[in-house]
Amino acid sequence: MIVEMSRGAPRQQVDHVVDRAHALGFEVQLNLGTEKTVVAILGSDTGKTSTDVFAVLPGVESVSRVMKPYKLASREFHPQSSIVNVNGVEIGGKKVVIMAGPCAVESEQQLMETAKAVKRLGASIVRGGAFKPRTSPFSFQGLEKKALKMLAKVKSDLGIPVITEVLDIQNIEIIAKHADILQVGARNMQNFALLKELAKMRHPILLKRGFSATVTEWLTAADYLLAEGNQQVILCERGIRTFEDSTRFSMDIGSISVIKRFSHLPVIVDPSHAAGHFAYVPSIAKAAIAAGADGLLIEVHLNPEEALVDGLQSLNIPNFERLMAELRPIAKAVGRSI
Ligand code: PEP
Ligand code: MN
Repeated sequence: MIVEMSRGAPRQQVDHVVDRAHALGFEVQLNLGTEKTVVAILGSDTGKTSTDVFAVLPGVESVSRVMKPYKLASREFHPQSSIVNVNGVEIGGKKVVIMAGPCAVESEQQLMETAKAVKRLGASIVRGGAFKPRTSPFSFQGLEKKALKMLAKVKSDLGIPVITEVLDIQNIEIIAKHADILQVGARNMQNFALLKELAKMRHPILLKRGFSATVTEWLTAADYLLAEGNQQVILCERGIRTFEDSTRFSMDIGSISVIKRFSHLPVIVDPSHAAGHFAYVPSIAKAAIAAGADGLLIEVHLNPEEALVDGLQSLNIPNFERLMAELRPIAKAVGRSI
């Protein structure tokens, strides 16, 4: 941690900072400039100490961290890229993994037919919301437990892993019984009580980026999931809220390379929620693969005109088929395959 003293701060204020650091068990290094003093606080545990501890002291102008606040998700801690194995499907390996399916499970037939189609076209994981986080309480909330049974049927009949969102602590167990990947939605990225409970599971967990979260906050949230020894964490960039409203969210394509640089965790991209419109999904999906994403989470509906949720951003089967064909040469160009 670096403590910058105010211009002309008297020696006694500098000593106070030094004494406080020593009292907390840290070493210090002083840089006594002609006008400004900088105190470096050294120790392996500075990450656990709030910067406020020093910021509040008289004569302190600013306090900044040298180390990142996240540890377990960092590449410093785990230099090798992690591969998450979802019942035989590897995420973070050479293959780009496509997860596709409806925003919400609407019926057994809708889910099964969509699953068969996306599997035939190259998807290796099926998505389907059972519990939906809706902005309005009057909107369709999902088929809940009935949908979990339908997801489990897809999994057993087609032999394909399924992913669905966990909204709250009380449904973790039942969702874990039916699904292969537990999805934490953007609105829950910093629901720390939920993250702590999920950390106790040994299921792969997909952590979406909160739409107003920085990459650092996102990786620090991932640390909650890794803190109990679950290594099976996948990140998912789904766009952030900016001043731009021509797409539903702004796809932060740069975050993929930032994640790859600073974290060992696999990162996939959800182009559908960023786009908000099916016409924009393919270009975002292609950009994500070109930028090094390990996979995609795409909303596909048999008949988007009749979708109960997110019809406008859902690809129909022919559009999904076209996109899959367009993605293959891009994956190849970056040394991967689909
Ligand atoms: C979803 O994938 O079903 C979803 C609700 O996405 P997000 O949490 O990214 O909004
Ligand atoms: Mn959706």
